[in-house]
Amino acid sequence: MRLTIIGSGTSLPQIGRGAPCCLLQEGGRNVVVDLGSGASRGIFQAGVHLRDVGLVVLTHLHPDHCADLVPFLFAMRAEETARQHPLLILGPEGLRRHYSNLHRTWGHWVEGAGYDLSVMEWEGPSMKWGPFHLGAAPTAHSVPNLAWYIGGHDRSGVILTGDGEGTDALVKMGRMFSHTLVAECSLPAGRDLPGHMNPAQAADLAVECGSRALVLTHLNPGVDAESAKAEARERFGGEVTTAEDGLVIDV
Ligand SMILES: [Zn+2]
Ligand SMILES: [Zn+2]
Repeated sequence: MRLTIIGSGTSLPQIGRGAPCCLLQEGGRNVVVDLGSGASRGIFQAGVHLRDVGLVVLTHLHPDHCADLVPFLFAMRAEETARQHPLLILGPEGLRRHYSNLHRTWGHWVEGAGYDLSVMEWEGPSMKWGPFHLGAAPTAHSVPNLAWYIGGHDRSGVILTGDGEGTDALVKMGRMFSHTLVAECSLPAGRDLPGHMNPAQAADLAVECGSRALVLTHLNPGVDAESAKAEARERFGGEVTTAEDGLVIDV
């Protein structure tokens, strides 16, 4: 399975870092996790046409993780897109209400035109979509946030935390699957803020989850990529990578 980091940044504008979005590819199928502002363009830049994204998975409903949903759906109405196969949007509790609110504002512009659009809140405990196996566990964040396990046919995959600190449920899920942990690291070393992680916390979570490798992402402008990686490496023995937009990793 191939992971492409589309956006490695946060809500704050940064040269070279877009808002959160990851692309997962296997067997010709494309899954996108989170759609931060500008993600639709980033997906296209990664060589994937929006009409070929079959599943959008959202970690939570903060704007930096889902603000591109409207541009994404609106683009699908353009003649050039001519989408035909179904699109599933899967996310945490509150997603259906969120979509209803968008629909109240944008009306038919956010409906599926010529294709089936489904909006589904995760009920668990597991799900299969194409060649992908999915699982989810809550993190500790200021709103409901699901960390997603997404694995390929060999059950080797990724866990993407979205936002938030680790929970017992997340650690339990981590220990069930061989995975690379794609963890938020929005805080610089030494800074604590409930509901977010610094490099040490992300590394400790990788140790607890038994992760094979760690990718630090969701980096704020104040987080120095090199020192974040160095700090994480002191605590976690596996490979540590700091995400960059466009980074491709086989997982
Ligand atoms: Zn958030
Ligand atoms: Zn965020």
